[in-house]
Amino acid sequence: MKRVILTTLLIVMPIFFIGCMGKTPYTKRHQLMLVSVEEENTLGLQASNNILKKEKLSSDKVAIQMVKKVGANIAKVADRSDFKWEFNLIDKDELNAFCLPGGKVFVYTGLLKVAKSESQLATVMSHEIAHAIARHGAEKMSMQQATNVGKNLLTSALGINNSKWTSTFDMAYGFGSNVGLVLPHSRKQESEADRIGLILMAKASYNPNDALEFWYNMQKLNQADEGFVFLRTHPTDSDRIENIKKLLPDIVKSYYKK
Ligand SMILES: [Zn+2]
Repeated sequence: MKRVILTTLLIVMPIFFIGCMGKTPYTKRHQLMLVSVEEENTLGLQASNNILKKEKLSSDKVAIQMVKKVGANIAKVADRSDFKWEFNLIDKDELNAFCLPGGKVFVYTGLLKVAKSESQLATVMSHEIAHAIARHGAEKMSMQQATNVGKNLLTSALGINNSKWTSTFDMAYGFGSNVGLVLPHSRKQESEADRIGLILMAKASYNPNDALEFWYNMQKLNQADEGFVFLRTHPTDSDRIENIKKLLPDIVKSYYKK
């Protein structure tokens, strides 16, 4: 009996997953996608509301204005009419920034010590917005769910419910109480977010060459390993920087209008 179930699943599961493929913008990579855009955006909004309840917003008017300005410039070229964009500066000395599905962007004041100029801030915000528009969080959730399905052959993949997604969402975005439960972005997702981020930056009229300064700053911090979630999900080594250097000439030529 077990063998029959296993054989059936081995035949059915790939067909089921083929029907659940997404495609990233610009890079056109196929990705496993078991979460709908609507589900993803709803979870993003819930998470955003929780963060706003828990964290204190900054009152630094100049810094807030900068975050909102850079964010709006990038949002304009991100081509996501379903997103309800919002750019928040959290008053916390933490190296962190992220964009939730649905367009809620959070920058922590601690990051502004690393992203010192407008174009450096544009680098990290573009990179985070790139993760969101390429649906990397939902892809991680889908991979995790597919692994769970594989582990428990008697659980139907179609029985996935919203409450199960909530904990997977927390893991995908690093909101779990345990840092060890954070699902880091894959190398593929990281270099993809670098590429799409540079494109967004260029389209928003920021010089993509300035991105290198930001990543050099990150590399220095990464070597010091301060244990920040951002550094865990964005390991910055010479491979990342070399990859960005290779991407720059084409992106500048195709997308950057001075
Ligand atoms: Zn990243």
